[in-house]
Amino acid sequence: MTNETWTIQDSDRLYNVSKWSNGYFKIEENGQLKATPNPNKNVGIVINDVIEEAKEQGIQLPLVIRFHDILRSQVKLLNNTFQKVIDDEDYRGKFFGVYPVKVNQMREVVEEIVDAGSRYNYGLEAGSKPELLSALAYNNNADSLTVLNGYKDRDYLKLAILGAKLGRKIFVVIEKFSELRMLVELGKEHGVIPFIGIRGRMSVKGRGKWESSGGDKAKFGLTTSEIILAIEFLKKHDRLDMLKLFHFHIGSQITDIRSIKEAIEEGSRIYCKMQKIGAPLQYFDVGGGLGVDYDGTNSTNDSSINYSITDYITDIVYGLKSVCDLEGVEHPHIITESGRAITAHHSCVITNIIGEIDNTKIEFSTKQETGEHNLVTEMRQVGEVLEKTKNWQEAYNDALKIKTDSIHAFKLGILELEERAKIETMHLRILKEINSLVPEEDFQSELMQDLENTLSGQYLCNFSVFQSACDSWAIEQVLPVVPLTRLNEKPLKRSTLADITCDSDGKIDRFYDPDEGFKKTIAVHQLNEGEEYRIGIFLTGAYQDVMGDMHNLFGRVNEVHVYADSDDPKGFYIEETVEGNSARQVLSTMQYNPEFMAFKVKRYIDRQVSRGRIRPRDGVSLVDFYEDCLKSYTYLK
Ligand SMILES: *Cc1c(COP(=O)(O)O)cnc(C)c1O
Repeated sequence: MTNETWTIQDSDRLYNVSKWSNGYFKIEENGQLKATPNPNKNVGIVINDVIEEAKEQGIQLPLVIRFHDILRSQVKLLNNTFQKVIDDEDYRGKFFGVYPVKVNQMREVVEEIVDAGSRYNYGLEAGSKPELLSALAYNNNADSLTVLNGYKDRDYLKLAILGAKLGRKIFVVIEKFSELRMLVELGKEHGVIPFIGIRGRMSVKGRGKWESSGGDKAKFGLTTSEIILAIEFLKKHDRLDMLKLFHFHIGSQITDIRSIKEAIEEGSRIYCKMQKIGAPLQYFDVGGGLGVDYDGTNSTNDSSINYSITDYITDIVYGLKSVCDLEGVEHPHIITESGRAITAHHSCVITNIIGEIDNTKIEFSTKQETGEHNLVTEMRQVGEVLEKTKNWQEAYNDALKIKTDSIHAFKLGILELEERAKIETMHLRILKEINSLVPEEDFQSELMQDLENTLSGQYLCNFSVFQSACDSWAIEQVLPVVPLTRLNEKPLKRSTLADITCDSDGKIDRFYDPDEGFKKTIAVHQLNEGEEYRIGIFLTGAYQDVMGDMHNLFGRVNEVHVYADSDDPKGFYIEETVEGNSARQVLSTMQYNPEFMAFKVKRYIDRQVSRGRIRPRDGVSLVDFYEDCLKSYTYLK
């Protein structure tokens, strides 16, 4: 396909945008990527415009853009879909979703979700004391729920009692039997206890990366016998009336809808049987697990899901209803703890390419010389034969063998540096020639993959994988990556994306290609002189956003919080910017004292000035420069 006939539809297909974006991102006719955060309204936000405006405000790349409207849309989607399915199925319980704070604890994110969810009585879930502290302060809707998971100590439980005293609907989910004893004891002291939930240890596991959250060996939850003992214990202490909720969580990013069906089957039986032995349950909490289709394949790949949000909800409502009807038990209220699906789409990381690492461009003279080593001559002959016969398979094997032999020979001291350079240059030339000869139908072959990896360059991106896309490094999570402009132009190169940490692991090299499956390289445009090439890493709003670390002391990146506005000429406004870390901030977290550092460096400079090795004027500007660097952003300018 030539450049002239390349369309934005081709780019959409290549980068799979329509498949992973949930309708929140689209390509414009002029080749720019835009966000469409309210799928029902026709407002589009050109991402490049947001970057330009941020730059005018002095905000540099890399940066995180948060589309707050996407958070709101996802909260609405979950609640409205539940409402619709509940109506359609004549289900008699209600839906009370909670957002698990651990998935993205940023205050602005939690506030937006609580606000968007207020008319649905959408609540919060906390899994630790700090998260509970935030839920107590921010879940200010008396009709929504606060669900408390995770291991608990006395202070955690006392905070839950504090919440109950404030009139909140607090549910303490018992993960371990000892928590129940502690809670009942504290209840005697304080006169009040929150509602109680029990987490069941399910035999079903979610398939995928997080399958160990379920199953008999899971970290959390009570076994069947413990559940029976817990009911007896509460009866004995006259607190059985507070046991209102049954909970399970079989893992995050459940890729296969079958696991959900199985979990609902098992969970609803446990719920009904608990009712029958006297537990006055009213709430059925299915935990998290609603996945995100990161690669857009609608499959059971680890980075995909084979179901829609409607399928998920229908299976919960329908499955639960059938079992309850069979067992003659009233339909419970349903709770989900979806975090990933609510937050993943709302934020993306924007970075710019600061250079290219391409070893294949080096051209070294390979002219024949008398007395050259045999291996050099042999490599030259492989090239000449290939030229004549076009037998690329044979040439590939021969060249590879000579290349390997030459490295051995070099290590033994038989080959000179120049001879090794010649062999490498000729080898690359042969590979390029082979690359142009292999027919299309062989593109998937191992040889082809190897060729492509050897011949592709790397684009150097101004960001840290460890800070901004840590799951891509830790668990090979696939995240969609798309250039923000020139999408009406055919991308003529393939490349991996290397970050600026000093770590060879610091790169993104797993991409989904609709024609060729998972690849180490992504199609990108050639860099134009004097023009910044910007790419976005998408679906980073869940976990990625808050799990980043300080590798190489890069720290948090700049953020802009964007709202759509149909009255605005550009369709948006930046409501807030949050500055990323400066060098002094990241140094301070590692126990350095930046003032003292500046003081020491100034003293060293003064000493050189007094020795006459630095001119006084230069000394002053060097001191200023050091101090400026301490104050500046950690990433490349
Ligand atoms: C992590 C977690 C969640 C969130 O799961 P998602 O798959 O992100 O929706 C919900 N509940 C519990 C108990 C969790 O540990």
